[in-house]
Amino acid sequence: MAGIGSDASDADCRPRPPISFELFPPRTDAAALALGRTIDRLAEADPAFISVTFGAGGSSRGRSLTVLRYMLENTDVEPMAHLTCVGSSHAEANRLVREFLDAGITSFLALRGDPPEGADPDAGIGDLGSAAELVQLIHRVQEEREPFAQEGVPGVPGASRIGERRRPERVAVAAFPTGHPRSLGLTQDIDALLAKEVAGANLAITQLFWHADDYLGFVERARAGGVTIPIVPGIMPVTTPARLARLTELTGVEPPADLAIDLEIEPDAESCAQLGIAYAARLAQQVLGGGAPGLHLYTFNRHDAVLDVLGRLDLHTTPQLVHERNTTPR
Ligand code: FAD
Repeated sequence: MAGIGSDASDADCRPRPPISFELFPPRTDAAALALGRTIDRLAEADPAFISVTFGAGGSSRGRSLTVLRYMLENTDVEPMAHLTCVGSSHAEANRLVREFLDAGITSFLALRGDPPEGADPDAGIGDLGSAAELVQLIHRVQEEREPFAQEGVPGVPGASRIGERRRPERVAVAAFPTGHPRSLGLTQDIDALLAKEVAGANLAITQLFWHADDYLGFVERARAGGVTIPIVPGIMPVTTPARLARLTELTGVEPPADLAIDLEIEPDAESCAQLGIAYAARLAQQVLGGGAPGLHLYTFNRHDAVLDVLGRLDLHTTPQLVHERNTTPR
């Protein structure tokens, strides 16, 4: 596919901005088989990482690990594990982080997660009240597991010396350009993001948004508020009206009325999909043009739509990329 997988064309040596994808763990064997093929196709686009969601309360723990292990064993892609801490005791969260590190996972998206539907949102939240505490825990568990690293001494066979301890590759966190549904205002979201950076996060990935200005304005406010880590926009091509409705329910982010109407009145599934893909590509191009340090694409476990979005982009249009202080995503 033009522009994907290669870092530069003959005429243009600027590196492609980093791309990443998000998947969720499959529920059936048939879906697992299809997901293997999807991962293989996504891997061909040379993503910086592919993240795998985690059911709050640990409902998908085993299935998430299976997908992450598949990537480790069958691709060169860096797998990123979403982890949630809501409802967990310190000991449970500690065990969870250790289990993923033991499986060879070194990149995490640390989330608080949501209490189960119907539960009192303030009751039984667990020992870790926020994603910032989970970020700290991930670093602490890694330190406990491996207090120091040993490395060989060049030129002295069999000798080793104490080296710099390995740190988790990436500890990412969520950011909310249009505000978290329970937040009292954007200032609170920016304070929460800053708290996560101070706790040790080195990358933020945003919730869905529908207008480039929502993302660009949020980044500007976050920078003014002291946040320095890269804030990567999360974008999803929405290819059916039903999916748009479900996403709105899940995220609480209201879509533009014209997109909802246009999806409804498209005559068939293919033109509906093309409309959603074109919308996502336009949004992606606008945020890249505004300085976004990369793109995180929500795949809904399908490779075709997100690869189609990438195929429509001029991925060398990143004029402000150099202004990002931290270049964490590859
Ligand atoms: P936090 O960062 O702890 O807090 C979220 C918001 O709460 C803040 O932005 C702020 O408004 C408020 N807040 C937090 N702490 C404070 C404080 N001390 N003072 C005041 N306000 C505060 N959920 C899953 O269950 N599994 C997943 O795999 C998953 N993946 C996600 C991936 C992305 C990219 C995003 C954006 C969300 C994902 N979620 C997932 C949803 C997420 O778990 C929920 O949005 C949850 O409600 C908040 O999690 P958080 O990590 O943002 O929490």
